[in-house]
Amino acid sequence: MKIVHEPDELRRACDEARAAGERVGLVPTMGALHAGHRSLVERAVREAGFVVATVFVNPTQFGPSEDFERYPRTLEADAALCRDAGAALLFAPSRDAMYPLGDETRVRVGATAAALCGAHRPIHFEGVCTVVAKLFALAGPCVAVFGRKDYQQWRVIMRMARDLFLPVEVVGAPTVREPDGLALSSRNRYLSGADRARALAIPRGLSLAHAAFAAGERAPAALVAAARGPIEAAADSVDYVELASPESAQLLAPDRAVPERALLAVAARFGGARLIDNVVLGEDPAPLATA
Ligand code: AMP
Repeated sequence: MKIVHEPDELRRACDEARAAGERVGLVPTMGALHAGHRSLVERAVREAGFVVATVFVNPTQFGPSEDFERYPRTLEADAALCRDAGAALLFAPSRDAMYPLGDETRVRVGATAAALCGAHRPIHFEGVCTVVAKLFALAGPCVAVFGRKDYQQWRVIMRMARDLFLPVEVVGAPTVREPDGLALSSRNRYLSGADRARALAIPRGLSLAHAAFAAGERAPAALVAAARGPIEAAADSVDYVELASPESAQLLAPDRAVPERALLAVAARFGGARLIDNVVLGEDPAPLATA
């Protein structure tokens, strides 16, 4: 696996792969890679002959009081994981390499990015789409793989690709969890042992709502309350526990029965970490087998 740092090198390598008849697959990440990221690279390897993983802690998607500075940076271990998972190239640019002229031109996002995390992190999805559009422009992938752990992000990027006629298939891969149900996240590194134990309230809450839904509950307030109960009791604060459309990521009406599929999404803080997680009711398995 080759490691490159310059946008031109990424573009050249992908041009060469295409000239040799390969499909290019892309897996954008911010590094501090774990088994969730690995599953995305492995999925991309099944879809494309030349897989590029990228590691870039993108400044334009962090708010002023967020964790950009302290976000974990572990490039050597990241490279080993990508190589192991079958990536052909790792692109790890500097901030100046990705934004040589600054960030004057950005992607404006809309309704898909408005609720859930978009309501709590106002510039976040604009920054995400801007950097992902740049990566798409450099790599020209046929397929790009994102995690459903960041469900809204996946839908926002899918919508961007459709709106802008970007010729890329945007795949959403399942959330990888620890055996105790906690979704893998680079931000889990911020958790103390006690914080981590409290954070298990997230998969527990989602699983309680999942069980209620499976038992026929369709009242939005009851499903949200089932998830919110344990999470609110354990978290330092809860940003949201909400039901939304799995397609548009827009909130469901609180006074109408939940349809056959619904996104139940959570963001809550434990110690120094803001964690997000979700389950698509009517589609995903429960985060915990025994809730
Ligand atoms: P990040 O490095 O956190 O920006 O994430 C890079 C990609 O990995 C995104 O598409 C995430 O949705 C995905 N990802 C992060 N955690 C997981 C997980 N536990 N399971 C599956 N995908 C994940």
